[in-house]
Amino acid sequence: MVHTQGMVEVIVGPMFSGKTEELIRRLRRAVIAKQKVQVFKPAIDTRYDDREVVSHAGGAFSAIPLASIEQIWDYLDDDTTVVGIDEGQFFGEAINDVVRRLADERDIRVIIAGLDMDFRGEPFGPMPFLMAEADRVDKLQAICVVCGAPATRSQRLINGKPAHYNDPVVVVGASEMYEARCRKHHIVPRD
Ligand code: ADP
Repeated sequence: MVHTQGMVEVIVGPMFSGKTEELIRRLRRAVIAKQKVQVFKPAIDTRYDDREVVSHAGGAFSAIPLASIEQIWDYLDDDTTVVGIDEGQFFGEAINDVVRRLADERDIRVIIAGLDMDFRGEPFGPMPFLMAEADRVDKLQAICVVCGAPATRSQRLINGKPAHYNDPVVVVGASEMYEARCRKHHIVPRD
């Protein structure tokens, strides 16, 4: 857990696959190894708590919300050796350069968790590029809520029905939720 060179680790998978849980597990171990850990997340993710990354199972780690990834330079302490980033898909493409610089110029171990695919099953934001840059990629699976098979996709439901491919990001007045689904039960109407 003590490292001599910078490195990039990426943890991807659909919603409920345990990405945040795995990120927290690695960060806890880094703390045990006496590493100086800092955790960041996009300011828009207000899922549970503004200043923490929290897994669906309840584990938590304090985190600094960033309006943009470049703000990391304002908050990064000189003695930090491990950086965790949750919900990486919501950062713009500038995250690629930031992550490379953290690893290459500061010898930091960077661990990024995020969705590899959006609800349509298409590559999500900067994650494919971070997966290419990474020294290590772990693709986690959830459990399909329909059949119990391993789930690799996030099903978006609006008022209980599969969201259409062209549905807007925010549907005003609608109740919206997400489920983990396998390839067979992931439905994205396109007509
Ligand atoms: P992620 O960050 O990938 O969304 P979390 O780490 O927040 O995932 O949560 C993972 C936890 O969610 C699991 O350990 C389990 O307790 C719970 N969970 C709820 N629904 C599911 C599901 N369909 N498949 C797997 N785990 C699920």
